[in-house]
Amino acid sequence: MTSQEIRTLTDQYMMHTYGRFPVAIDHGEGARLYDPEGREYIDFTSGIGVSDMGYGYQPWVDAIAKQSNKLGHISNLFYTEPPAKLAQTLCQRTGMSCAFFANGGGEANEGMIKLARKYSFDKYGKGRATIITLNNSFHGRTITTLVATGQEVFHNYFFPFTEGFRYADANSLESLKAEAGEDVCAVMVELVQGEGGVLPLDQDYVQAVARLCRERDWLLLVDEVQTGVGRTGTLFAFQQYGVTPDVVSFAKGIAGGLPMSGILANEKCRDVLGPGMHATTFGGNPVCAAAGLVVQNTLTDAFLEDVQAKGTYLQNQIESMGLPCFGKTRGMGLMIGIEVRDGYTNKEIAARLIEHGLLVLTAGPGMRLLPPLVITKEEMDRGLAIMRETLG
Ligand SMILES: *Cc1c(COP(=O)(O)O)cnc(C)c1O
Repeated sequence: MTSQEIRTLTDQYMMHTYGRFPVAIDHGEGARLYDPEGREYIDFTSGIGVSDMGYGYQPWVDAIAKQSNKLGHISNLFYTEPPAKLAQTLCQRTGMSCAFFANGGGEANEGMIKLARKYSFDKYGKGRATIITLNNSFHGRTITTLVATGQEVFHNYFFPFTEGFRYADANSLESLKAEAGEDVCAVMVELVQGEGGVLPLDQDYVQAVARLCRERDWLLLVDEVQTGVGRTGTLFAFQQYGVTPDVVSFAKGIAGGLPMSGILANEKCRDVLGPGMHATTFGGNPVCAAAGLVVQNTLTDAFLEDVQAKGTYLQNQIESMGLPCFGKTRGMGLMIGIEVRDGYTNKEIAARLIEHGLLVLTAGPGMRLLPPLVITKEEMDRGLAIMRETLG
């Protein structure tokens, strides 16, 4: 099919829930993507932080082929090897105690919320179920994670919403304390607010939140759906913040492009959810888990250091271009935000770059770059050249 035919078919038969760019993608190689007509795009998006191994990564393709030949799905009524090994790897690399696998970020966060409420119920009984989240956060699109999302624009249309969420300002311990109360059971944060605009929390603040959580026996829930799995240059971003969450969620990059998510719980929380209390049919799917193991094997310490170096390189190069539309850059590893100056809009800039062959994302009022973690210097330079030619 041609790009035009794909677009026509999509618009006719799929719900109009997405504002798509007028580009159809057919296949890819490394950090390069191609439309059905063979036009090349450099990818600074990873499909929103998912395809961390790029496209056509041979170990990933092979592992999926091998596992799908053996067994595609059997359910959690039986034991399978790939999710067990993936859980072991994740726990050993983070110091967490056990994993629960699900399918998407919102669903993983739902599990984290259920776990926090059950922990509190077991210890303190009813009436201690409120979770404090941060303004400008993003936690998902289910009814409950929409409420957890600290942005008014999301709290519309779908009433009634789930009760039990309050919001504090990021990086303000005073604001958090102002929301404290006997009804609180947990605090949930993104360490780098992703959709909100690539805004890293302050280290001191995060450590103070962790202390407050310990003092009050609130669970510290960290949403690493976007920051997790190597994106920030460590396996999880919390490893750079000097804190250990009680529960951490992950999704986007975990299986390099197959739908998978999950949560890791520490020792204190490992048995909070017992048999029958939480489940999901597809969770821990062996093909997705086999793909996840390839991602884990690829994310060695040396590889992760390189992610940090690539991120620094991209930020420095963009700042030194001095483009009229861009202000400062920020971020961690290959999760990069770029300020957009007054008089320009991020959506227009993204559309122009995409038209010229560079796929980018927006977040909040700025630009967001989430290139595949395997991106090469040559691919980065090609993307930067497009940026310079298009916006200079
Ligand atoms: C993307 C994202 C989610 C939602 O994930 P889905 O897979 O779309 O449900 C939740 N939290 C954060 C931080 C995210 O970036």
